[in-house]
Amino acid sequence: MQEQSSKSLEAAWLSVTQRANSAAAGRPVRILAVSKTRPAALIRSLVALGQQAFGENYVQEALGKQAELGDTAIEWHMIGPLQSNKCKDVAEHFDWLQTVDRARLIEPLARFRPAHLPPLNVLVQVNIDDEPSKAGCQPGQIAGLADSIAAHPRLRLRGLMAIPAPAADVGIRRAAFVRMRTCFERLRDSHRDVDTLSIGMSDDFELAITEGATMVRVGSLLFGPRA
Ligand SMILES: *Cc1c(COP(=O)(O)O)cnc(C)c1O
Repeated sequence: MQEQSSKSLEAAWLSVTQRANSAAAGRPVRILAVSKTRPAALIRSLVALGQQAFGENYVQEALGKQAELGDTAIEWHMIGPLQSNKCKDVAEHFDWLQTVDRARLIEPLARFRPAHLPPLNVLVQVNIDDEPSKAGCQPGQIAGLADSIAAHPRLRLRGLMAIPAPAADVGIRRAAFVRMRTCFERLRDSHRDVDTLSIGMSDDFELAITEGATMVRVGSLLFGPRA
């Protein structure tokens, strides 16, 4: 599949930004540009337009692009499932990790986070539709994971992330977002400084924002369909 030319990349970025802002109706919302499978050159083009945050799913692929992009100011988010043996790479090379879904990841992440970097920003991933094959914790496990993340000075608990099951029906999608928002508000009762609810992708980012997303993760709408 053909990737966007730099002109259509700019048009796509402006359109997503405007649609997100109008759905947010004055509330701040962040767009994470999901750059998995996309070359570093396209990331550089979006940075030139003002995009700051990029999401990657595979650690090795991300490290390669980070090396190519050198000193470019980018906020890197890991949004793919995390294997335990990748905790060190993520702690050393990312600013955010959106996919913490089990307790045994937490201690290694904290231990490997280099002292010269700020704490690693962490989201707890929730399997909100209770899909058997999907990553993410159960809603009932959020509080325990959040407490252990918050207990580590080298980690900073920022909120929740989910990838709801694809559904053609808007009502079903909305219901998943509403459940996530309820989890998020409950978490905020005990962790006041939590500020991030990462839900919504290319197909449904406006709906997610309407239902309370503070961050949406957009790939194909910016860069074109993935091969
Ligand atoms: C690929 C991916 C996205 C982006 O999906 P699009 O439909 O291309 O916007 C968002 N979140 C996660 C976790 C992904 O893996």
